[in-house]
Amino acid sequence: MKKLLLLTVISLLCCTKGLCQRDTVNFTVDFSEAHRNRFRVQMHLSVPNGEKLVDLNISVWTPGYYQVLEFGRNISEFRASDLRGNGLPWQRTRDDQWRIATGEGGRIHVSYTVTTERPFVAVPYIDKDRAFIRPTGIFMYPDKNLDRTVIVEIMEHPSWRNIATGLDSIAPRTFRAGDYDILYDSPILAGNLTELPSFRVRGAEHRFLGYQMAQFDRKSFMDDLERIVRSASDIIGEIPYEHYTFLGLGMGNGGIEQLNSTAVAFTGDGLDSDPANRLRTLSFLAHEYFHHYNVKRIRPIELGPFDYSRPNRTRGLWLSEGLTVYYENIILKDAGLIEPGQILEDWQNTIQGYENNAGRKKQTLAQSSWNTWEDGPFGKRGETISYYEKGPIIGMFLDLAIRNASKNEKSLNDVMRALYYNYYREKDRGATEEEIKMTCESIAGQNLDDIFTYIQGTGDLDYQKYLSMAGIQYQRTVIADGKSSVKLSIQPTLSILQKEILGDIFGY
Ligand SMILES: [Zn+2]
Repeated sequence: MKKLLLLTVISLLCCTKGLCQRDTVNFTVDFSEAHRNRFRVQMHLSVPNGEKLVDLNISVWTPGYYQVLEFGRNISEFRASDLRGNGLPWQRTRDDQWRIATGEGGRIHVSYTVTTERPFVAVPYIDKDRAFIRPTGIFMYPDKNLDRTVIVEIMEHPSWRNIATGLDSIAPRTFRAGDYDILYDSPILAGNLTELPSFRVRGAEHRFLGYQMAQFDRKSFMDDLERIVRSASDIIGEIPYEHYTFLGLGMGNGGIEQLNSTAVAFTGDGLDSDPANRLRTLSFLAHEYFHHYNVKRIRPIELGPFDYSRPNRTRGLWLSEGLTVYYENIILKDAGLIEPGQILEDWQNTIQGYENNAGRKKQTLAQSSWNTWEDGPFGKRGETISYYEKGPIIGMFLDLAIRNASKNEKSLNDVMRALYYNYYREKDRGATEEEIKMTCESIAGQNLDDIFTYIQGTGDLDYQKYLSMAGIQYQRTVIADGKSSVKLSIQPTLSILQKEILGDIFGY
């Protein structure tokens, strides 16, 4: 009876705050078992009258990390009850699905525990010092009802100060996502975080909050990051979000992009003392930041809206990952943070790495994207290739070919802008393989079959043909065991067009 009264009061309070419309799903997450590496999750949702069963699913993957993660494995202590507190029968119908017999429908309450194992950007993690909510691994969704509004309340932790997320806050520690796609796109980091000085670009605030940050010159680092955001957003010409948050997760590897945030392994250690480390970090952040355009908005048609119950395959990661790698240097160059010679050296290393991988004869770039769910994010060297390696080479070729064909009036930037405005902005969707090729060709003003054949085939790449468009000499020497050494250098004499292209891409 007491429980009933309490639930009625809670639900009245929710409703007066406008937080629990019929379609809204409400979650509370508590950190009381942080020391046991466990999240406790409460979920309230309504079941339409007459629906006798409801299926609740947990995602099997995290967009941005193209691997099956089996989040269902980590869920235990599942309970379901009606609003009066009476237990409802349920059964587990799949590894990722719980079927609840709801009786007559109405509002139901579900609770479960999520056990976490390791701090990693694609999965949830909690310990006594911080919590990283990777929403795909924490929040269940009602089957086929991803369009529901979701309210998440984070319970207070006695000694944690901050919560960082890209979600809009509607009350203290309470966040709203318009639907599940937004919820799953918005990780939440809680703990005693360090906040770096924020900056504004094109009216939008950019914040950086991180766990366990080292000592470094915060102002100078954020000045560099601001330049990166400016030069990346100048490529497209607008910023499509109201605020953006960098979530620094401490030690580790990797980063995942979202629409208005990125979660990255970051401590800032060595930023001031080691220039190469600083450049790698800035390059990594430029990559993750540029993804909010390229992959979150400019994207192969298969990459969104997502199906969270199975791998979402695409042949297009050469565009989403490969071209984002290619843009790291472009962004850093426009930001004045990299020397021309370093870009040339980077191209040289990428080409040499690719040429020395026997996998290049066995797998196409399109296949490396399609099969990444089995091969792993970086492929199986010797057997397969990585779209992180061959993808940026295609980026170079496209940029060079477009600049050459258009007398340097157009570039790959025009392709990115066209894909952004014509598909994301106007049609609110990704682009098909044909549309991507057609966009490149219409901007180049010529057929680009040669380059697109490289995406679908395993043939040798004609480096000299494209590199010479910027006056770069390609030299390959066989050293030992069939391995090659690749050397890129600038030709002694350059035409006016070559000089312009070289200057625009490298900053020479
Ligand atoms: Zn990436």
